Amino acid sequence: MKDSIKFILKNSIVFALVSFGFSIIGGLFPSSEHTFVIGNPLVVSGVTIEHVTGHIFWGAVIGLATLSIRYIVMGGSFAILLDADHLLQFLDIEMVSRMSHSLPFAFIAVIVFLGIHKGKDVRMCAVAFAAVLSHLAFDVFLADVAFGTSTAFPLFSPFTFEKVSFQGLDWLGIQIIGVTIVAITSYFFKRKQIKLKNSPTKT
Ligand SMILES: [Zn+2]
Repeated sequence: MKDSIKFILKNSIVFALVSFGFSIIGGLFPSSEHTFVIGNPLVVSGVTIEHVTGHIFWGAVIGLATLSIRYIVMGGSFAILLDADHLLQFLDIEMVSRMSHSLPFAFIAVIVFLGIHKGKDVRMCAVAFAAVLSHLAFDVFLADVAFGTSTAFPLFSPFTFEKVSFQGLDWLGIQIIGVTIVAITSYFFKRKQIKLKNSPTKT
C-alpha cells in the first residue's frame, strides 16, 4: 500500500514536471501570433470542481483496462496534472495556451517514462499517452455539454501552435482511442508475463 502510494506520487510528479517543462517552450516565442498573456489560470482557465473531478474520472477510465488500481489512479492523476502547463500563466508572460495539450507532448511523456523505468513499464507509458487523450476528451465534453461550444488545442505543438478544434461527440472517439491503447498494451503485457511464468527457468 505504502509502496503503491509512493509509486503513484513519484510518477505523477514526473508527469506534472514534464508538462510544466514543456509549457516553457510555448513561452519562448513572444512575437508569435499564437502567444499571448493568458492571465491568472485560477480566473481564466475555468478551474471548477466539475472540471477537476471530470478530468480525474475520465483519466481513471482509460486506466481500467490495466485491471490494476495503481494505473487506474495514475490515469486520473496524470489526466488532471496535464494542466500543470497552465502554471506558467502566473508569470503573465506571452505564451501558448494549453501548450501540453498536444500529441508531441504525449510522445515525450512516453519517452520519459520509457527512460526512467528502463523500458520495463509499458503500461505506464500507455497510461501517460492515453491520459493526455482523456484530458482532451473531457475538455471537449465539458465545452459541449456546459457551453454548447467547440474547444481547441495546439495539437501539434511545438511543431505548430495552430489550434485544432473539436466539438460534439468528438470526445467519445478520443476517449475510445485512449482506452484502446491501454487495453492493447495491457493485453500484450499480460501475455508476456504468462509466457515468462510458463517458460522453464534455466539453472
Ligand atoms: Zn486542460
